Amino acid sequence: MAHDLLLLAGDGIGPEVMGEVKKVIGWFNANGMDFAVEEDLVGGCAYDAHGQAVSDATMDKALRADAVLLGAVGGPKWDKVPYEVRPEAGLLRLRKDLELFANLRPAKCFDALADFSSLKRELIEGLDILIVRELTGGVYFGEPKEIRDLGNGQKRAIDTQVYDTYEIERIAAVAFDMARLRDNRVCSMEKRNVMRSGVLWNEVVTQVHQDRYGDVQLSHMLADAGGMQLVRAPKQFDVIVTDNLFGDMLSDVAAMLTGSLGMLPSASLGAPDAATGRRKALYEPVHGSAPDIAGQGKANPIACILSFAMALRYSFDAGEAADRLEKAVESVLAQGVRTGDLLGPNGGAAVSTAQMGDAIVAALGAN
Ligand code: NAD
Repeated sequence: MAHDLLLLAGDGIGPEVMGEVKKVIGWFNANGMDFAVEEDLVGGCAYDAHGQAVSDATMDKALRADAVLLGAVGGPKWDKVPYEVRPEAGLLRLRKDLELFANLRPAKCFDALADFSSLKRELIEGLDILIVRELTGGVYFGEPKEIRDLGNGQKRAIDTQVYDTYEIERIAAVAFDMARLRDNRVCSMEKRNVMRSGVLWNEVVTQVHQDRYGDVQLSHMLADAGGMQLVRAPKQFDVIVTDNLFGDMLSDVAAMLTGSLGMLPSASLGAPDAATGRRKALYEPVHGSAPDIAGQGKANPIACILSFAMALRYSFDAGEAADRLEKAVESVLAQGVRTGDLLGPNGGAAVSTAQMGDAIVAALGAN
């Protein structure tokens, strides 16, 4: 059966990097896989066409697709459009309506780029970790959330950290499922020493592990110690699972272990479908629409191509194809092929977005 994939290229460099993903999909379709691709608008381009950052018709397609791959949204052209229809509103609606509660951010070091890291080469060479962050609960959404006037010249700001059992259960299950596709190890991070939500988080993750995932190795770490360990010895981790707030920070720390924004993929997943077991999924590069280089053929397409590799692994049960694509990226980088963002202080000749895509497709065939 064909895999239904919806491509939403978006704005700025989005269509440029997505163009290279289409070449990669074309290669897989010519070599035994079957992707049925639809394309549609999101972000500023959707606002220009429909007056909405994502139309209801596009949302219907996203809800039906096996996976959605997004390029990037936004840009100065839409700085003054009304708040509810700004480009980012399209992305937020996709995340909300698809009920994507799990954010996956890998931090993988490609040896050829090891010197881009702020850490020593030996600490990050071979690094391959995955941060699983709870995305729809916790202190960013908990009520009450307000600034109170205390009437004595003082104000009081309140944010509330709230987690229910089911929210912790389902994010823990995602982390254990992902670990089974990798090195089968999960480290759960919270602050049970000072937060009640940390106590419940720890209890529930332990229970889910005991009930359903005894084959996966589970450890626990306080989130502050986890932050330290991420920069001291990051290779000790496989999958890290943590809440919305800690995950926001730890995933950015982990991302920067590996260098350039043009290299970072991500995924957001929902609950498994009762009939098919397939999770709703949105894959996207971490970077934005990069208006400063848009339309110039300078963008690095690797973050978007690696986001498609995540789709292969996590939506299409195609781990071998994902490995093959990641190896193709690795071999192109090892040959010294570089877009401008990967040149580093010593400079050198940069290839274009299309040349990088072509090199990766050629390496796919050579693998
Ligand atoms: P950005 O990620 O677009 O760019 C930051 C810097 O990194 C720029 O110098 C850019 O040229 C460079 N860069 C980013 N991706 C690159 C790539 N693939 N190859 C080479 N260089 C790359 O962030 P920004 O400048 O803060 O935001 C620009 C626009 O993107 C804004 O409108 C913002 O709202 C939007 N944005 C969208 C998303 C998204 O779609 N998920 C995420 C972040 C920002």
